[in-house]
Amino acid sequence: MTSSARPLLNRRLAEFGTTIFAEMSALAVATGSINLGQGFPDTDGPEEIREAAVRALRDGRGNQYPPGPGIPELRTAIAAHQERRYGLSYDPDREVLVTAGATEAIAATLLALLEPGDEVIALEPYYDSYAACIAMAGAARVPVTLRPHEGSFRLDLDELRAAVTPRTRLLLINTPHNPTGTVLTREELTEIAHLAVERDLLVVTDEVYEHLVFDDAGHLPLASFPGMRERTVSIGSAGKTFSFTGWKVGWVTSTPDLVTAVRSAKQFLTYVSAGPFQYAVAEALSLPDSYFTAFREDMREKRDLLSAGLREAGFEVFTPAGTYFITTDIRPLGAVLSEDGDGFTFCRALPERAGVVAIPNAVFYDHREEGAPFVRFAFCKRTSVLEEAVARLKHLA
Ligand SMILES: *Cc1c(COP(=O)(O)O)cnc(C)c1O
Repeated sequence: MTSSARPLLNRRLAEFGTTIFAEMSALAVATGSINLGQGFPDTDGPEEIREAAVRALRDGRGNQYPPGPGIPELRTAIAAHQERRYGLSYDPDREVLVTAGATEAIAATLLALLEPGDEVIALEPYYDSYAACIAMAGAARVPVTLRPHEGSFRLDLDELRAAVTPRTRLLLINTPHNPTGTVLTREELTEIAHLAVERDLLVVTDEVYEHLVFDDAGHLPLASFPGMRERTVSIGSAGKTFSFTGWKVGWVTSTPDLVTAVRSAKQFLTYVSAGPFQYAVAEALSLPDSYFTAFREDMREKRDLLSAGLREAGFEVFTPAGTYFITTDIRPLGAVLSEDGDGFTFCRALPERAGVVAIPNAVFYDHREEGAPFVRFAFCKRTSVLEEAVARLKHLA
């Protein structure tokens, strides 16, 4: 310890001291609860992809520093995936960058593109690393709140428009959206694109749940809208799509200038990562459509199972159109567990009372009061685990 009164953690990061995930996961272990808090699958992705990683490792591919932008095989596979699914064409050599998960992609993008004092508009509630990375860049976050409307959380386009100031540098979009499960509609994305062009804003779009859109329309990448290709940094990840969240293989696709800028920051964060896994993810991205369809159908069944169980237990359920999270409103449960209808109190009591762990959505808000009654459950778990969770939650009603 230093003797001065100065805190060790700097002012930019002081508000991000500890995460709720650590607290809740510890509580899950201590109480023997089913952990539907943190969003990671409890089964691994395809066996052949695991084997591809083993093969790469044994064959000595990727055991030493891979190339800074990522191995050519993976960059080519990412470009082919964007072309095959969305008709978006990217040059694998100049317009694709492999990162240590989407997390590093977000950090490197924001550190590269923001000046201190710039404003970043983000959809609230937001993924927790956004706020921390905006802060590390010395920029200011300007949240635009998604609010419940007819069974899902919606963006108020007028509010978004009004949030833009002369200091706004970029829009940080996330669709499908964690934690609400909202998938932005074609109309909403069109409006976002208009606004970005009109105000000459950069757009960063986190689309790690692109393969978890449950209606048949499928995922609409923001980069495919008019005027967006040249101003959008698109972020993807293998973690969620292939159920290998520990591999931390993510990527950025954008213009050569934007990719070069992001790479300037990325090279001093990790430089490179996940060598052998990059070979395996290149194979994963080339899996036939049947893999992606089966993955989505499996998750859709799990969504329906947990949604029905939560409803039966007395929650108001916002059925997610995408992602593997369900946001609920605890207020219909009345005074059970939390007299003040507060998600924090509720989630701290839930393990003891029902043997299940969830996350209070308020942690994803600047306007904590807006998120107070909402609680998030993850359904990327084995069916038997979800059935047991549903059985336990029944006792709440
Ligand atoms: C999980 C998640 C990430 C992080 O992805 P990694 O590839 O594991 O780093 C980023 N954004 C959102 C919205 C997520 O849910």
